Amino acid sequence: MYPSSFEYERAESVEDALSLMDQYADENAELLAGGHSLLPTMKSGLASPDALIDIGHIDELNGIEENGESINLGALTSYSAVDDAETMWNGATAFAEAAHRIGDVQVRNRGTVGGNIAHADPASDLPAALLASDGTVVAHGPDGERSIPVDDFFETMYTTALAEDEILTRLELPKRGQNSHVGAYAKKPSPSSGYAMVGVAVVLELDGESVDSARIAANGAMDHAVRLEPVEEALTGETLSDETIAEAAEHATDDLDTMLLMDDLQASSEFRAQLLKVYTKRALESGLDRVNAPAPAAD
Ligand SMILES: Cc1cc2nc3c(=O)[nH]c(=O)nc-3n(C[C@H](O)[C@H](O)[C@H](O)COP(=O)(O)OP(=O)(O)OC[C@H]3O[C@@H](n4cnc5c(N)ncnc54)[C@H](O)[C@@H]3O)c2cc1C
Repeated sequence: MYPSSFEYERAESVEDALSLMDQYADENAELLAGGHSLLPTMKSGLASPDALIDIGHIDELNGIEENGESINLGALTSYSAVDDAETMWNGATAFAEAAHRIGDVQVRNRGTVGGNIAHADPASDLPAALLASDGTVVAHGPDGERSIPVDDFFETMYTTALAEDEILTRLELPKRGQNSHVGAYAKKPSPSSGYAMVGVAVVLELDGESVDSARIAANGAMDHAVRLEPVEEALTGETLSDETIAEAAEHATDDLDTMLLMDDLQASSEFRAQLLKVYTKRALESGLDRVNAPAPAAD
């Protein structure tokens, strides 16, 4: 299908984009980044914006930078750039692996980390990885910059704490010690789209062989990415082993209202509940495999 007609504006800077957003404040304008969610939605007639404000050429929004204790990802950083960055695989392994598992090579070359997080599709891969990484979302609006802790960011399906007049400009991920953390992401991809029917990200801080702290989160199961706190609690203080992993993964659905589990043509809620336990276990097993192994390289 063809989208309905719309105005096209190309922003050259964040300030320029904010001013265009203000200019179109009374109309239905959308930011265009990689276009890999927005354009299919427009072509299928589900969205008909009056105007597109193209932020995809703003250089200041692109790139990966280490800044002391954090790794900063500009909103326009592509999944391929994340996947190719050694600093990501070493210091934010779960996020790097989630980017590596997205869609196919075309999607990974065009899709942006900012678009993925701002769009908040329940089946996207990066929201759980950002939650498990304990990241921060940085947004720019008319009043300047603000930082939103990821635990406060995802609200419901396609809805986040971003205000209508804000642009997500960067993600900040705590840089983890290569030898003191393990991260992993495991997903059951949809056979048709590659989106996550269920995806689980784990980030564990280790003290020797013992789990000092755990952050574990899932996509695909609920209307937005959620932490699996009972699994985190079951692992904290334990030695990571096949037994402790199997026991902890059984708690994956403990805190979730099973009436609200996603239920669609791809998978029933009962199946998703089962997948959640299985993929929690797989992500943790992958973490265990990495405890004494070097960080994985992209294949
Ligand atoms: C065939 C196919 C397979 C896919 N498979 C997967 C998959 O396996 N896993 C996965 O996670 N995703 C998948 N995707 C979706 C893809 O990851 C999208 O790129 C992503 O959801 C949106 O990022 P984008 O840069 O393309 O954003 P766009 O499509 O340009 O924008 C999406 C929405 O976010 C808003 N937005 C974009 N950037 C910003 C910003 N900086 N600040 C505020 N709002 C912003 C836009 O206004 C729009 O409303 C797939 C897409 C396709 C077409």
